[in-house]
Amino acid sequence: MDKALAQKVIDRLASAKSPALFTHLRPDGDAFGSLLGLAHALKDRGQNPTLHVEGGMIPMYRFLPGSDLVEDIPGQWPTKADAFVVLDTSTRERVGKKTLGWKQPVDVVIDHHISNPGFGSLNLIVPEIPATAGVLFRLVEMAGWKISPATATCLYAGLSTDTGSFRYRGTDAQTLRIAASLVDLGADPSEIAKNCYLSITQQRYHLKKLTIETLSLKDNKKSGFLTIMPDFYSKSGAKSEDTEGIIEEVTCIQGLEVASLFEFSPDGGLRVSLRSKGRVDVNSIASSFGGGGHRAAAGIRFPKDGEKNRDLVLASISKAISALKD
Ligand code: AMP
Ligand code: MN
Ligand code: MN
Repeated sequence: MDKALAQKVIDRLASAKSPALFTHLRPDGDAFGSLLGLAHALKDRGQNPTLHVEGGMIPMYRFLPGSDLVEDIPGQWPTKADAFVVLDTSTRERVGKKTLGWKQPVDVVIDHHISNPGFGSLNLIVPEIPATAGVLFRLVEMAGWKISPATATCLYAGLSTDTGSFRYRGTDAQTLRIAASLVDLGADPSEIAKNCYLSITQQRYHLKKLTIETLSLKDNKKSGFLTIMPDFYSKSGAKSEDTEGIIEEVTCIQGLEVASLFEFSPDGGLRVSLRSKGRVDVNSIASSFGGGGHRAAAGIRFPKDGEKNRDLVLASISKAISALKD
């Protein structure tokens, strides 16, 4: 982590009375963990952050301390706010449609996505730490700010979910040291795991079952793709956030290099999730279509022409797989 840059970010955050914190649409555990973790740290210093995410809080992460602080994105830039802070978000568009017309420039971006172009005045992007929550831990530690059990719980949840429970490639000694420090500071790994992984709604389970049944293997069984059709939601009663984790269920199939998930929306749009075992760089595939992410996990969003774009992405995956040397 660039210490001089980190210090500038600390100074900017410290100087704001009411920073407005944002994260990405379709928020995950790192999005909420980072948002709430930083909010607790700032509140403990007497600051008054506001927390915004498209659609507001989702039930699965309601167990996080302070989750009732999370609000939907307002129609206009909240004029009382004195800093525009964006966490865990790889592009300006992913802050949410409602924010795109705001004249207010983004002051601080804190992230770990290698594809992040840096769309703020200060951009602390640390790809060697596998979750924004981990970057925030190092930042708050460097600032010498208090890390309460609530802060530690939120940051640990972000770190744990973005590393697939400390299983993915980015998990190294530093990741585990950060996790250990957070446990020392009051995070309870078993309680957090119970909420994040060991408890799902029946609706979520139903959606998972419908989706997994669509698995189709191609490229000599080196790639597999899943499809979510709009009616899967009415059939299962699940919500859009319930897709999180489904793709991981098939990425682990032996012989697969790449897994993809195509979610069609009723308006003809398409959301794509890509996962790689590591040999294929799915970030470069996603980036070539205007998406992004990391080498082993990336995503793309197409506003229209869902089927045509699905075929283009599948062709790009086939090309990357055929370029691999066996
Ligand atoms: P997902 O497949 O939605 O779990 O996302 C995998 C990774 O790719 C995450 O790190 C996301 O932040 C990133 N990502 C997903 N969709 C996009 C997108 N449309 N643009 C840029 N990055 C994305
Ligand atoms: Mn995220
Ligand atoms: Mn993240």
